[in-house]
Amino acid sequence: MKVFTTIAEMQREILTEKQKGKTIGFVPTMGFLHEGHIGLLKKARQENDILVLSIFVNPLQFGPSEDLDAYPRDFEKDRQIAIQEKTDYIFFPSVDEMYSTSPSVGVIAKERVNVLCGKSRPGHFDGVVTVLTKLFNIIQPTRVYFGLKDAQQVAVVDGLIKDFHFPVQLKAIETVRESDGLAKSSRNVNLTPEERRQAAELYRALELGRSLIKKGETDRLKLIQTIESHLKKTTESTVDYIELYTYPDLKPIEEIKGKVILALAVKFSKVRLIDNIIVDI
Ligand code: AMP
Repeated sequence: MKVFTTIAEMQREILTEKQKGKTIGFVPTMGFLHEGHIGLLKKARQENDILVLSIFVNPLQFGPSEDLDAYPRDFEKDRQIAIQEKTDYIFFPSVDEMYSTSPSVGVIAKERVNVLCGKSRPGHFDGVVTVLTKLFNIIQPTRVYFGLKDAQQVAVVDGLIKDFHFPVQLKAIETVRESDGLAKSSRNVNLTPEERRQAAELYRALELGRSLIKKGETDRLKLIQTIESHLKKTTESTVDYIELYTYPDLKPIEEIKGKVILALAVKFSKVRLIDNIIVDI
């Protein structure tokens, strides 16, 4: 396994692989790898000749009052995991390497961003599509792997790939969870032990929502209120949003039918957590 920190070296290596006709599986991450990331690596390993992992905590997708500085990092542990998962290359650039000049062109996400995390985190998805545009041009992947834990991100990236004609196939992978249902996340380490216990209620609340939908509940507001009261009863978190939209278009719905995403975001003392389920009825 090789680690590259410069764009020029990474691109040179990719060019050589492409000239040999190799397919390239790409897993973009912000590091501090856990089983969620490992699931993506395994899938990409199975489906491609070459596996590239990027580790880059992208400042552009963090708002001024968000947790950029507190975002956990452990490159040595990530490197070990990457070796275990038979990664061929890690791309691990510095912020200066990625954003060395002030940009003359920007990439802006226009659709699927005025709801959920896009609404709570203005500019977040512009940062995501900007860094991915750069990464796609550096890595030139055949297939790129994202987790449905960030289902809105999957929807936005789907738009990016289609609008800009990137010759890459988007693969969306199911959310990997702890045994109590909490979605694995690098941010979970910043929960206090009591918050960690309570955080399992996020998935329980979504499951409650799923069972109500399956039982025939069609009233969006009633469903949201039930979930909100469950979270208020069982956690000390503050609800950022609980919402229901069509998926992947993320259009508002009043009556629940078809493929919908039930998504929520809550704030604990130091961490904001998100989770979702997609229900097809
Ligand atoms: P991050 O490092 O948080 O930017 O995540 C990198 C990729 O891993 C994204 O595509 C995430 O959606 C995905 N991911 C993060 N957590 C999970 C999880 N629990 N299950 C599946 N994929 C995940």
